[in-house]
Amino acid sequence: MTTNELWQAVLGELELSLNKANFTTWFKNTFISAWEGDHVVVSAPNAFTKAWLEKKFNGMILKSLQAFTQNRIRAITYKVEAKPQHAGVLMQDIPVTAMPAANGGTSTQTMTKEAVATFAKKETLADSRLNPKYTFDTFIVGKQNEFAHAAAKAVAQSVGRKYNPLFIYGGVGLGKTHLLQAIGHDIIAAKETAKVLYVTSEKFMSDFIQAVKTGHGKEFKDQYRNVDLLLVDDIQLLSGRESTQEEFFHTFNALHENNKQVVLTSDRPPKLIPALEHRLISRFEWGMTVDISSPDLETRIAILKTKCEELHFALDPDIVRYIASVVQSNVRELEGALNKLIAYHQLKNTPATLENTKVLLSGMNSAPQNKSLTAKHVMATVCQYFDLSNDDMVGKCREKRLAFPRQIIMYLMRSEMSASFPSIGNEIGGRDHTTAMHAYEKISNELDNNPKLRQDIDLIKQRLYNT
Ligand code: ADP
Ligand code: MG
Repeated sequence: MTTNELWQAVLGELELSLNKANFTTWFKNTFISAWEGDHVVVSAPNAFTKAWLEKKFNGMILKSLQAFTQNRIRAITYKVEAKPQHAGVLMQDIPVTAMPAANGGTSTQTMTKEAVATFAKKETLADSRLNPKYTFDTFIVGKQNEFAHAAAKAVAQSVGRKYNPLFIYGGVGLGKTHLLQAIGHDIIAAKETAKVLYVTSEKFMSDFIQAVKTGHGKEFKDQYRNVDLLLVDDIQLLSGRESTQEEFFHTFNALHENNKQVVLTSDRPPKLIPALEHRLISRFEWGMTVDISSPDLETRIAILKTKCEELHFALDPDIVRYIASVVQSNVRELEGALNKLIAYHQLKNTPATLENTKVLLSGMNSAPQNKSLTAKHVMATVCQYFDLSNDDMVGKCREKRLAFPRQIIMYLMRSEMSASFPSIGNEIGGRDHTTAMHAYEKISNELDNNPKLRQDIDLIKQRLYNT
């Protein structure tokens, strides 16, 4: 077997277990550049891809290499190297042999069955109110959403049994609705008769009010309680809506008792939703709570590249990098900027250049004021304020004298830098993400009725931004 044949076999296998967007992002233009005895060198087109292969996919790649070489390969190193032109077929040409019913050899009988299944799926999809675009396939995974993505996948694979409810929260345009609906699509794809219902909390509310007005309470209950999966978007909008909250409480209980899955999204964690009944908060916290934060530069680049591919629009890497560096706030704006660019050039029939892109996007330079804050800087400022050392903060000691400043660091990394909880935990001596989450919630809650704490935080912030 040549190195090329071996790598094509590995890619063929990986393609089946990864979603398309991820597979394309991370494995395009990779190849085996050396194979000696039990050691293989895998080359990637850039340092970012190399780091991801090393960190995220090494286990999968090794396992697959071993499967195709009778366990001969024991170690992989990764390096950055451009793929030589003759290095083999393009990724699109790889035959996906194990894909069921993808070849032309299917019998008429199975075709008919498939047609029926497809039809049923279409019906289910229409009933579910899902947007066909929002699938796992089109969702790019980066550091800031990987935990939420993994939880969503886990729920899709064991509906009602693993994390129930799953609660996803994060700022606008970061992919909450996309991820929520992806779960629905996966479940319908696995079982075409699955009853999936997607609603915004506003739709739930207006359906409920309508049902009460017209005396159709039973129909309302039938609709919402007879599903396998209920997806409710933007649950924070139930804030202050007492009777709808009461109804939602009963809907939730009915589904939960029957092991039916509930997934919710919100712009903040359950505890921080104002005017939400305590019993709902506690139920929302029964299962798993995960957050999504703003994508970093490399993830923004990966998202843009994939969107360009989906739209069949070729864009120079420098331009892609430029857009990703000026549009920092969220994915929706990133998409907006790209769409604007594409529309402009299609209309004018001119090629995109770095210069005309700069002009076109000149209004979009929405870098937040705190973009230059780093975890190191936050840590150093808080340490200085409390006269403690870095080692005190990353160490194990849980004395209040140390635990409290530590929580403030975690709080500020979240509130000022929008860092993800897993990454905050990492910075603070490799602590668990739940510790970071707890610290953030504790300090946020305490801020309301502790003027001394508010003052501390204000003073620290002044130092943060003035140095
Ligand atoms: P939210 O509900 O958090 O406000 P959406 O789910 O509506 O955000 O996402 C906004 C847009 O950005 C959508 O078009 C969505 O497809 C896209 N998007 C967000 N995150 C990602 C991602 N990780 N990969 C691909 N597209 C994304
Ligand atoms: Mg949304």
